[in-house]
Amino acid sequence: MMKKQATQLGYQATRSVIMLMILSFTVTLATAQNKVLIIGIDGCKPDCLLEARTPNLDQLWKNGAYSFNAQTDPISSSGICWTGMLTGVWHEKHKVISNEYKNPNLSAYPHFFHRIKEQNPTMKTYSVVNWSPIHNILQEGDADIANYLLRDKKVSRRAVDLLKDSDPDVLFVQLDEVDGAGHKHDYTTESQQYLKAIEKADLLVGKIVQAIKERPTFHTEDWLILVSTDHGGSNFGHGKDIPEHTTIFYIANGNNVKKGLLNQQVNVVDIAVTALKHLGIQVNPEWDLDGKSVGI
Ligand SMILES: [Zn+2]
Repeated sequence: MMKKQATQLGYQATRSVIMLMILSFTVTLATAQNKVLIIGIDGCKPDCLLEARTPNLDQLWKNGAYSFNAQTDPISSSGICWTGMLTGVWHEKHKVISNEYKNPNLSAYPHFFHRIKEQNPTMKTYSVVNWSPIHNILQEGDADIANYLLRDKKVSRRAVDLLKDSDPDVLFVQLDEVDGAGHKHDYTTESQQYLKAIEKADLLVGKIVQAIKERPTFHTEDWLILVSTDHGGSNFGHGKDIPEHTTIFYIANGNNVKKGLLNQQVNVVDIAVTALKHLGIQVNPEWDLDGKSVGI
């Protein structure tokens, strides 16, 4: 009798513990905070990315949605393409047509941080870059933190510190040294120095992704990680409307991502829209964006 009662008590206790676990899991899911990390690797040509040894990036695309046949702006220079990525529209609308950033049409087509702040001013928007002109399209109040540092290592270290010590909702990180290696050694699978630069960038990507996983609040957060590039290259340069320059890669990784090769056409302008969607920002048709959300 005593033994039976004890056993019953034991069952009840076990059941209560299981119920509590289910309940806390449900609460965690319901309150998970959606966050976005975008890593842009300047001038990282997709075929060379696949040729280089990049375990961290491989981990992201093999467990995520991906395209190695995405398209950037036909004017495949950095300023034009980064602006497309961060505004969600092509150059005909954002009006950045050279790296001089003359007269960008920011009132009609601002940085996507601006859209976030309009709808949810409490969200924290951070941008850490190596190539400082990217920040030319930031308007007053768009970014809570906008840093530029002249080495990729410093950029990644800053990103890691921010993930460790603060609470970004969206963090954009740009690494620049792969493009530097392309200009110097050419953007080909034959160029060992270029491949080595991609491998270095991969290590930095690994550190940033690891910093997300080590956040004490990680289990209550739902991070979407997007990785892409602004353009490819050939003959030590880029800027033309040719496949070697305009073909880019797109990687989306996170709980909400539908894994596998993306069959649809992916474009650089999709990145801002995908980020906005994950953050729960309603995309207003009046914004007239060219991008769509991809992979989530
Ligand atoms: Zn570039």
